[in-house]
Amino acid sequence: MSETTAQLAELSPETKLMCERPGTFSGGHRMCAGCPTGIFTKMLTRVSDEYEIVAGNATGCLEVASSIFPYTSWQIPWIHTAFENASAMMSGVEACYKSLVRQGRLQRS
Ligand code: SF4
Repeated sequence: MSETTAQLAELSPETKLMCERPGTFSGGHRMCAGCPTGIFTKMLTRVSDEYEIVAGNATGCLEVASSIFPYTSWQIPWIHTAFENASAMMSGVEACYKSLVRQGRLQRS
């Protein structure tokens, strides 16, 4: 058994499942090879792909390298915002979601 195979065998069932899911963040972005931000984002979308999620992305490497017009790595609703207000914007997205559910215009997922 190779070292890599032995390491994979030690992964938890949840981690193995996460590795098998496609996720909703495509390759082909322009981030540096091996950048942990791209890897983390891919893994994050793999564990959340059973939910309808919205990504809020402040200006930075992840934003500029994953959304070069006319291409995008995002296969989910994605909003770009300025450095300082990503949290406030996503609070508004959550408030909108809760309001639409209360009004019966959106099913809770
Ligand atoms: S954070 Fe930006 S500059 Fe740093 S490795 Fe990732 S893509 Fe490259």
